[in-house]
Amino acid sequence: MKKSLAAAALAGALTISSVAVSAPGFAVGEGPGYNGNETINTSILRTYDEMVDYLKTQDAKQDAMELEVIGQSVKGRDLYLAKYISNPENPTILFLTQQHGNEQLTTEGALEFIKHLGTGKTGGVLDGVNILVVPMLNPDGAMGDVNFSLDDYIASGDRHLTRYNAVGVDLNRDHVAKVQPETQALHTNVMAKYDIDYMIDLHHQGTNSERDGKLVSGSILHPTTPNVDPDVLEGSKRLGAVVFDAVDSTGWGHLGKYVGGSAETISRNGIAVEYGISTLLFEMRGMSDHFNEGAVLGQKSNGYLIKQTVTTLDATVRAIADGSISTADTSFWDTLAEQNNRSE
Ligand SMILES: [Zn+2]
Repeated sequence: MKKSLAAAALAGALTISSVAVSAPGFAVGEGPGYNGNETINTSILRTYDEMVDYLKTQDAKQDAMELEVIGQSVKGRDLYLAKYISNPENPTILFLTQQHGNEQLTTEGALEFIKHLGTGKTGGVLDGVNILVVPMLNPDGAMGDVNFSLDDYIASGDRHLTRYNAVGVDLNRDHVAKVQPETQALHTNVMAKYDIDYMIDLHHQGTNSERDGKLVSGSILHPTTPNVDPDVLEGSKRLGAVVFDAVDSTGWGHLGKYVGGSAETISRNGIAVEYGISTLLFEMRGMSDHFNEGAVLGQKSNGYLIKQTVTTLDATVRAIADGSISTADTSFWDTLAEQNNRSE
């Protein structure tokens, strides 16, 4: 029963045209890793141009959506913001994806969620919450259009995806200095411009993390800098509670607590301190490409990981729109174990 429900959800979540979907008989955490056993085919992921076409198509279809260019990448690619602002007085959440170019399934999930907002699947949620989505902040890294070699990356074919931007900088260590054009665009034309209450920064981690002896489908963490305002931190913990409950109740989701530092160069910390925004880091299992075999998951869990993103975005906008986030029970944070690396 659980399996057939998950399979139905999987079929609904997948829109990547060329991928053949067969429902895997395992939860995403316990599914197989790559381990050199399959060909990593990045052609199943949307290219940057395909993402832009998709956003423009949705913008044309959806009255409530506004699409805006917030800046350009190092290589001159336009960076996009999809906006749903029905009432400036409403609370506002920002979803940010693919600061790291090789972490693409979060973007695929965000695009699917944008489509849902236009089809009424999310009900009247837009009456109670403003939604901002910045998908693929690092398109140069996502397209492998960078000033350094990716010859040792694992994926087959002519597209490699890398964590770094075109000049080799980790954008998620640039939130204090803001040197890179991608980071500047985000801060100048999104963070400083809108009254944002919540942010989820979506990433992918390696494949071998486990909690309580079970491989995880992802991990979450609130700000961990001592400089964060206690109320902002509490909001982050409530946001995490909504995400944890939504993913955990799917039956295939299994989350650990991410092990992260206090540096404010990282968005989870820096944006919470600088703007007073309640932030949450969400790391999904496995990357789209890497030079390290233990980081790449392969395609068998793609559907679940996209679905995990949609579930996360859907649950959080509903909880903000109906106000239930204000009473979310944060006590699970006291017992949620930090993930550890499974030793083979
Ligand atoms: Zn990342």
